[in-house]
Amino acid sequence: MKTVAEIIEQNAFSHSDLVTLLAAEGDDLKLIYDKAAEVKAKYIGNKVYLRGLVEYSNKCRKNCYYCGIRLGNAKVNRYTIDDDEVVQAAKYIKQLGYGSMVLQSGELMTPTFVDAIERLLLRIHEATDHTLGITLSMGEQSEDTYRRWFDAGAKRYLLRIESSTKELYYKLHPDDNTHSYDIRLEALLTLRKVGYQVGSGVMIGLPFQTLDHLADDLLFLQSLDVDMVGMGPYIEHSDTPLYQYRYLLPSVEHRLELSLKMVAILRIMMKDINIAATTALQTLRADAREQAVVVGANIIMPNVTPQSFRKQYFLYQNKTVVKDDAFAYHEQLEQAIKAIGCEIGYNAHGDSKHFERTPLMSLWGYNY
Ligand code: SAM
Ligand code: SF4
Repeated sequence: MKTVAEIIEQNAFSHSDLVTLLAAEGDDLKLIYDKAAEVKAKYIGNKVYLRGLVEYSNKCRKNCYYCGIRLGNAKVNRYTIDDDEVVQAAKYIKQLGYGSMVLQSGELMTPTFVDAIERLLLRIHEATDHTLGITLSMGEQSEDTYRRWFDAGAKRYLLRIESSTKELYYKLHPDDNTHSYDIRLEALLTLRKVGYQVGSGVMIGLPFQTLDHLADDLLFLQSLDVDMVGMGPYIEHSDTPLYQYRYLLPSVEHRLELSLKMVAILRIMMKDINIAATTALQTLRADAREQAVVVGANIIMPNVTPQSFRKQYFLYQNKTVVKDDAFAYHEQLEQAIKAIGCEIGYNAHGDSKHFERTPLMSLWGYNY
């Protein structure tokens, strides 16, 4: 059997190599983290790019078993932020020097919603002199919708596969047409075809999830040739069906460690993609996002959602950003980034280098 030191020097990784890396501890784990930091320094550098996150609406047509804002959770007060407030937030993001924003929401497919997002994108661009990079994260949509939003100025799209293993996917979602694994996968391919920088990702430390599943997730992201990845720990929420399986969850420490390992291993595998240090990481431990940056991540998405809405975008319990004021948070973040020897890439989009080098490659190379 190969050692961790041998595996991390390879250019291609088998499923069993990845399981070995995911199980590493002690000195072996340090080897993985050091290698990931070395790869990041060589291919990405020490800049961290910020994307101001606006949680646009918590209205959703879906019932994902893990998510606090699922349709079936009657305790949620539903909101949609009005356009003027979103445009204000976009101007604030520009003023803070963040080069990009992310608009995220529950999944709606109604013509009213599609039109509203298209109009909003045009307004944001107009109000920020076409300087902000805009990422959308609004779930599965038709090709026509993805195209309209692309033409209105969104150039990146995040759509996590959540778990690349079908059998586990259907333990996290109802097995019906609204939550189809195949449709989600097709949506990722459509996004690529339309021309977006495509981001995907998974949740880590889920009930029923094994190292085999996570190794498959890493291979999936590689074979999909994604430009960006956002993956982080699963965190339970008491008003969701998955909560009943909390006794199967790994400890918080273990979920954190697994998440950091996933980031580091992916950085070694996919050297020039953008990898986000997610909010969920920070929820489990205050310094975990910076740790993720040390071991491979290069993107952070500070929450700039107007305060009054944050409590209602409660995907999982203890979501930290609910308490943060955007400016105070920004100052702390700047210090924390400096403390780990990195710097913020101000007033720049921080596009995925992978996308810049290989536009549309995966359209032809995809064979998962
Ligand atoms: N509705 C869109 C979608 O599902 O793609 C975008 C918004 S959704 C709230 C964004 C992400 O939140 C999901 O992809 C999921 O991975 C994450 N999420 C939801 N519930 C979570 C939980 N309990 N723990 C960790 N992440 C969670
Ligand atoms: Fe809706 Fe996204 Fe939550 Fe699923 S994860 S219930 S699609 S907001």
